Amino acid sequence: MEYIRQVLRDLQIRHPEQREFLQAAKEVLESLTPVMASGKYENMGLLERLVTPERCVIFRVPWTDEAGQVRVNTGYRVQFNSALGPYKGGLRFHPTVNLSIIKFLGFEQIFKNALTGLPMGGGKGGADFDPKGKSDREIMAFCQSYMTELYRHIGPDTDVPAGDIGVGGREIGYLFGQYKRLRGAFEGGTLTGKGLAYGGSLLRKQATGYGLLYLTAEMLHHHGHALAGKTVAVSGAGNVALYAMEKAWQLGAKPITCSDSDGWIYDPDGIDIALLKKIKEEKRQRLTAYAAQRPGAQYHTGKGLWETPCEIALPCATQNEVNILDAEALVKNGCIAVAEGANMPLTWEATGYLQRKGVLFCPGKAANAGGVAVSGLEMSQNAQRLSWTEAEVDAKLREIMASIFRNVDAAAKQWGREGDYVAGANIAGFLKVAEAMEAQGIV
Ligand code: NDP
Repeated sequence: MEYIRQVLRDLQIRHPEQREFLQAAKEVLESLTPVMASGKYENMGLLERLVTPERCVIFRVPWTDEAGQVRVNTGYRVQFNSALGPYKGGLRFHPTVNLSIIKFLGFEQIFKNALTGLPMGGGKGGADFDPKGKSDREIMAFCQSYMTELYRHIGPDTDVPAGDIGVGGREIGYLFGQYKRLRGAFEGGTLTGKGLAYGGSLLRKQATGYGLLYLTAEMLHHHGHALAGKTVAVSGAGNVALYAMEKAWQLGAKPITCSDSDGWIYDPDGIDIALLKKIKEEKRQRLTAYAAQRPGAQYHTGKGLWETPCEIALPCATQNEVNILDAEALVKNGCIAVAEGANMPLTWEATGYLQRKGVLFCPGKAANAGGVAVSGLEMSQNAQRLSWTEAEVDAKLREIMASIFRNVDAAAKQWGREGDYVAGANIAGFLKVAEAMEAQGIV
């Protein structure tokens, strides 16, 4: 379809260096071919507006380390699309962060948030700051400096950040403390992922991982399989991976691997969640500490995790961590389903290969939407100044994930792509955003 090709060509010419963003835009736009046939979106420049953020803020973040040395990082907030509600999306603190990565994440977030059915636009932010090995005081100094610029651009009705890689409960606490001080008001609804003591929602920490398993179970059930009894390969050992593994056990499956950026663990008896939580959440240690305390577990440096035979694969670390060779190994070893806990962990080639081989595949914008869904529930609780019980939040999360799967499946069928959940998720999310953009005029 010429309109889509033209928009992608223009993007490539204007931002040749933004590799991750171009990859995400290509994946979404190419799957919209069936809904572009009417020509009405071309006339209103809808795709050109969709791929252009409403606003990008880039700023200096100076802070002082333990040795008294001043350090400087670059901070970002990309406010991509507010057609459905205030911008909503996490903050990533990682040395690889740049404008391309934040734009790719913010672009994906538009469709993910639309799929949840909650009134949230899409945005994302972060900094090229590396939290690894920093003291609590250094983390606090960085978060306070970052918020000293960010606070001008966010608020409960404008833009509501949350966590992502490198930003968990500790960082959200420091960010919120500084926001409150600068605003002179307790506006809890400006950040989600807060601690339970000051307005956080029960299950927010677990939501992305739990939601991933609820959706995977639904997808398997729809295709005549059960999750119970299956072996599951998981990558990552952070927030998403930990709670994906916990829910896998709870639903009767066995998670056998996890990883960090140095190496990976194979534990034939299944990952010991209590031990892993102690190592990652309490002590902030590396995975070598898990292997040292768990007889029978093997530690491997570097890559190779996806060579492990498994029936279900859940990549939960970072973008482009599963390439075509990994996908071939998964198929060879009998994997029947892959769902993305991380954002865009599979390369374009790997996704296409799995789909051609008949492996069930659910993209991140549907599969990992549980985190932002419970963030949306946290915003509702803050606005009403009340707290729902864990059972209430869990029931809502389950229903949202099941409904995401039903909508994605139905959209794929309706637009002639039955079983293609990449197309289903992109089309279902797009139609909702496009309808709101059309109604709101040329803005
Ligand atoms: P965490 O920081 O808690 O954990 C990230 C994990 O991935 C760590 O084990 C980390 O290892 C590993 N990792 C990070 N970068 C790399 C890399 N370049 N190579 C290899 N391993 C890496 O982050 P989250 O669990 O929150 O996020 C994981 C993924 O899930 C991301 O793609 C994020 O965007 C996505 N996501 C998160 C949501 C949330 O609610 N938190 C919601 C939806 C999606 P190490 O410690 O060595 O860096």
